[in-house]
Formats: sequence, structure tokens, C-alpha cells
Amino acid sequence: MSDTVPPRSADIRYETDAPVLYEVRDAVAWVTLNRPGLANVQNSQMTYALDDAFRRAAADDTVKVIVLRGAGKHFSGGHDIGTPGRDVAKSWPERRTLWWDHVNKPAAEYLYAREQEVYLGMCRRWRELPKPTIAMVHGACIAGGLMLAWVCDLIVASDDAYFADPVVRMGIPGVEYFAHPYELNPRIAKEFLFTGDRMGAERAYQMGMVNRVVPRAELEEATAKLAARVAEMPRLGLALTKQAINHVEDLQGKRSAMDAVFHMHHFAHAQGDLAMGHSLGGMDAKSMAAHNRQSATDAPAGDKDGGDRAGGSKEG
Ligand code: ZN
Repeated sequence: MSDTVPPRSADIRYETDAPVLYEVRDAVAWVTLNRPGLANVQNSQMTYALDDAFRRAAADDTVKVIVLRGAGKHFSGGHDIGTPGRDVAKSWPERRTLWWDHVNKPAAEYLYAREQEVYLGMCRRWRELPKPTIAMVHGACIAGGLMLAWVCDLIVASDDAYFADPVVRMGIPGVEYFAHPYELNPRIAKEFLFTGDRMGAERAYQMGMVNRVVPRAELEEATAKLAARVAEMPRLGLALTKQAINHVEDLQGKRSAMDAVFHMHHFAHAQGDLAMGHSLGGMDAKSMAAHNRQSATDAPAGDKDGGDRAGGSKEG
């Protein structure tokens, strides 16, 4: 038996050539997810562009701090599982790990090789970027969106931001960058995953997942102010401090827990494939968005944490 297969065919239509925008103001690089009409869902085109932007910011001696934000109504609705620009079947010549190309690999190896690089690998790379990063989060921060916020050192959220990881509905134990029990306490992390419900910015702040919550109109100014304060510190001091805290988290098990859960995640993709012929457990962008809206509506009246503040938004 050959251990390669013909690549899957893909009809990919990108809506933009610039899925990530980059701008340096003062000592701060502003990196903007730029698929605003699609809730900034992440395809490979965006992921590689994001890696380019972080590389550029890391190499630029005038940049001290990096802010990651989203254009339009939301920070990020997650991974792209259903737009015309979904490009999971595309080969990228300059991969950012030594894992081989996934597109001509059979069965479970296909997603395993891809996600080693594009999801787990790149997120870890970005977490280890030696300059401080701040996620500026507004609107939806769903599933793969969490991964981008969580790899940042600090998170500033607007009061309309909400967080959710609804992928258990696909039979999958959380997104690839499995930091949930480190970002939230374990019991809250279980509730977060078991229900898939939205967690509002205020609750995320109480849990210590978010550094600051500010009114939406003040989000950019508050983030810029915080970035400017951090930028006053010496470059190497910041880099060493970041390394120190990341190292302590890894000594507490974060890295090895993530490795273990990555394999459960891929067992779940494989189980979906075996049982249903579908690695996302039969769910697609439409059905996920419908469930997400439903769980926002089902939240008890007055429950700010589960409340629907951006109802009907497309979360991909
Ligand atoms: Zn996955």
C-alpha cells in the first residue's frame, strides 16, 4: 500500500490578498486580523500572514510591543470551516515546522500533520515570541479565536467581548491549543467546555483570563496606553520576564498537558471520520453558528456571562 494519496481537490476563492494588516506606531506593532466580513475566521492564508507579521515585528528593533486585534465587529470567530477561502487542502511551500506537507497524506495523518504545524506549532511559536504581545479583544472570540488571544501575554477586552469554545459539540475536547485549565480554573474550564456557552468579558476578567475590561469606545486607547507603558521597559528585561513566566507555566505542566490533549483531539477527529466520515463530527459552520446563537439565547435572563450581546453574528 502506498503511504500517500492523491491530494484532495479544492476550489479556493480568497476574498482578500491582505488577511492580516501591519502597522507600526511609536514602538508598537499593530497586527490586525482582516477578514472583517467573515468575523476574521482563520484560514491558512491568514495564519501564514500572521506568522509573517509576528516575525517582522520580532525582527524590527523599533518595535517593543505587539498588539493583535481584529477588524470589523469581532476579534475572531475561530478557524475557517466554511468560507469560500477555506484552504485546508492547500500546500504551503514554506511551512513553519519540519513536519511534512499534509495534503497528500491519508486518513488521520492529513489533519495530524497539518495541525501540528498550523495550529499547535504556530500558536506555540507565537507564545514564545520574545516581545510582549497584547490581544485587544472585542465581539466574538470563539474557539480558534481563543487560541490567538491566549498566546498573547496580556488581554484587554471591551465590555461587549465574549469567549466560547463550542467544539465539544463536534465531539472534540477543546481547540488544539489546549490552555483551558490554565486560563480558567479547572471546574470553570469544564463548564465552559461542557456547555460551549459564551463567557462575557466581565466574567473572564473575574477568572483572571483577561487583564482589563473597558468600554468598547475606549478599547483602542486603553490598549495603546498599556502598550506604551510596557514599551518603556528595556527589551531584554521584557523578553527574559516573558520567558520566566512561560517557563514556570510549562513546569506546572502546561506544555506537556497540551501535548497529551493534542492526541485526544486527534483521536476525536479520527473518530468523527470513522463514525461519520467527517472529522468535525458532522458539524459545519452553519450548524455551529445556529447552536452558538441558541446557547446565547438560552442563557438565563440577566446573565451577563452567557448573554447575547452581538446576537446573530456570523461566527464561522
Ligand atoms: Zn483540530
